[in-house]
Amino acid sequence: MNDIVIENQPILSKLLNKINNSLTMSQAYMLVGNNKEELIKNSITFAKVLICPEKYDQKCSKCNICSRISSNTFGEMKIINPINGVIKKDEILTLRDSFQIKSIEGRNLVYIINNAETLNSSAANSLLKFLEEPQSNVVAIFTTTNLNKVYNTISSRCQIIKLKDCNKLQINFVKTVSGLDEEKINITLDFLFLIENNSQKALTLFKSIFLNHFDSKELIKSSLTVMLLAYKDALNYKLFKKMDYFKNETGIKNISNSYSTKELAKKVKFILENISKLEYNVNVLLFLCNFIVGIGEIADGKDNRS
Ligand SMILES: [Zn+2]
Repeated sequence: MNDIVIENQPILSKLLNKINNSLTMSQAYMLVGNNKEELIKNSITFAKVLICPEKYDQKCSKCNICSRISSNTFGEMKIINPINGVIKKDEILTLRDSFQIKSIEGRNLVYIINNAETLNSSAANSLLKFLEEPQSNVVAIFTTTNLNKVYNTISSRCQIIKLKDCNKLQINFVKTVSGLDEEKINITLDFLFLIENNSQKALTLFKSIFLNHFDSKELIKSSLTVMLLAYKDALNYKLFKKMDYFKNETGIKNISNSYSTKELAKKVKFILENISKLEYNVNVLLFLCNFIVGIGEIADGKDNRS
């Protein structure tokens, strides 16, 4: 059974479930990703899977060890972070000394070394000896945002897990669906935020700030598709406090907070109708004026709030 789901990280999820179910594991793992907070969060979950004496599950209410791991008060797990941008030999020696015991409470002794690229050469050498000593129940988890800068002697001894970049992943979806590049997606969002904040200004400026970049019906259609996803995310955020396409976009959060669910749904519907209108032989200038006014009217409380 696959109990562990790390959102947007199928490779890591699969690996953790495998470890959780079979109890077989490597001696060292290297988590590679772009987001430090994400790496830290995932390394802690990883440690729980390795340590939890019950089978780890998402809530893990069966043991108090997982909660001690969360608060970093569990003695059989050590976390090493760089100090002033470097991890020195002393840190590694202290770690080795504290791990001369067999695990007592947990299944394994685990150490996490964050920013593995900041190990200096003497620290890396000491660590290498530690990695080479056969201790069956000691597992290392490294994290890094720059695998190329990690000493090869260390990384070559690790099972490397490359995490997906969630922000990129989501913007890639918007790119694929709309066919627009990131710059045009951002221009669209800025224009949408202007419509929402000051539709009069949007009406005055749309030729220079919008039509300049979207000068064909096809491009306008793509841009409306981006707006559609933005309002869908505003709706997602309202209902589920999460976004599917634009992670943590403040402007979309503001839209979400400004309207009722019903109003947001009406905006989604309005954009869909306008996308199909573009199929017909419409006058682009008139179309855009009507669009800006129309989406603004849904904003002006002219419909019944739910
Ligand atoms: Zn547990």
